[in-house]
Amino acid sequence: MSSQPNPLSVEQNTPEAQAYRHALDVIGAVEPRVADAIRGEITDQRSYLKLIASENYASPAVLLTMGSWFSDKYAEGTVGHRFYAGCQNVDTVEQLAADLACEVFGAPYAYVQPHSGIDANLVAFWAMLAAKVEAPYLVDQGVRHVNDLTEADWEDLRARLGGQRMIGMSLDAGGHLTHGFRPNISGKMFHQRSYGVDPETEMLDYDNVRALANEFKPMTIIAGYSAYPRKVDFAKMREIADEVGAYLMVDMAHFAGLVAGGVFDGDFDPIANAHIVTTTTHKSLRGPRGGMVLAGRDGTELNEFIDKGCPMVLGGPMAHVMAAKAVAFAEAKQPSFADYAHQIVDNAAALGEGLKRRGARLVTGGTDNHLLLVDVAPFGLTGRQAESALNDSGVIVNRNSIPGDPNGAWYTSGVRLGTPALTTLGMNPSDMDEVADIICDVLTHAEPAAAKSGPSKAKYLMGDDVSQRCKERSSALLQANPLYPTIGKI
Ligand code: PLP
Repeated sequence: MSSQPNPLSVEQNTPEAQAYRHALDVIGAVEPRVADAIRGEITDQRSYLKLIASENYASPAVLLTMGSWFSDKYAEGTVGHRFYAGCQNVDTVEQLAADLACEVFGAPYAYVQPHSGIDANLVAFWAMLAAKVEAPYLVDQGVRHVNDLTEADWEDLRARLGGQRMIGMSLDAGGHLTHGFRPNISGKMFHQRSYGVDPETEMLDYDNVRALANEFKPMTIIAGYSAYPRKVDFAKMREIADEVGAYLMVDMAHFAGLVAGGVFDGDFDPIANAHIVTTTTHKSLRGPRGGMVLAGRDGTELNEFIDKGCPMVLGGPMAHVMAAKAVAFAEAKQPSFADYAHQIVDNAAALGEGLKRRGARLVTGGTDNHLLLVDVAPFGLTGRQAESALNDSGVIVNRNSIPGDPNGAWYTSGVRLGTPALTTLGMNPSDMDEVADIICDVLTHAEPAAAKSGPSKAKYLMGDDVSQRCKERSSALLQANPLYPTIGKI
């Protein structure tokens, strides 16, 4: 038995502990319910094993940077070219964030204003549309600006912009809604077709991508995913794009941390292979909540359009978040971040092995990135039931469709697991074996509850003893690997 007190039950005196205590006092004096909710959030985050593949724990330095007076600034425009006076400090942090992003990713240009992944994708789409459609159209018409077009030519241009095509990975194979699917604005902007995975291996089917690209002739091929547990060969995707004269856009929102940390290199490095790359900054990259667009390494005509987010799809940039991006990129430049990125992947592999050894089926049979997709149908459960049973046992995951999912996108047949957050806590492959055991304990003991017309797809039954023992085991792992130990008791 350890005689060390749990650092989370002690009032620490570190600068960050003091900063947060005082900050909560200041907030609580105005609206105590918000201060309480913030305390509630850290308590929850410290009480569950977080296996949400898209989440992480940003450092206190990143978090504190967002709570600064940069939040008060308007700074429409770009560095040195603002529509507002008084932006010299915003210029400093925006330039720093962009320079650091270029260093971390080996990119020739970075645009750090997008507020999120969806914004970054919109900026990239409109950069491609501007380069391919709008700019040549203005040249043809002999005008410099869209405002100089006649009404009829403007309507003609709008129709041309709306007539473009893209292909992206299908949703049930792990693609993302922003890759041209109808519920998202991208699906309303583009004619979209999706490519899938091989039904046997569940691996990305490059022949299918090539055949579709040749038949559909898209302006853009999007590679990238939110729930595909394997590497993507971006060199091969670029070959296909070049064959049909398309742009290759990689959305590395999920795995940017693995790119920054050098896990995905060579043919698997998006910057080395794509024309344009988008990302979020808050997932495996472990920065503030935000987005970014990077130019591909070989540089193309797209580069001059990458920073035209405002006024196209963005208003004023969030300077406090750009400052926090700079802090996060400075962290990602450290050699310890490369160790972290490799550990994420080692942990995912160990978690996968642990699950398989205990009889679980993983989509594609395993993982070579930060995430895994567990098929829960063999346990007799829907993804929704598995998600709830795990949540009630101290493990946070999200349900996810699997290829050819018979249960659709709401109930699903899978759960997605990711290791970036637990790896930030310092967990290692032997901890992952314990996590796999906890997960399988829950999945083997949960069963569908009865509904009027047969087994429920949403409700589940499981003995309290199972959730109790799993909670205790999850809690033991979290005590040994505490979240924000230097912040301590809040
Ligand atoms: N692209 C991918 C691949 C994603 O996984 C996500 C978010 O899950 C996004 C884009 C959108 O990011 P955001 O939620 O920051 O808008």
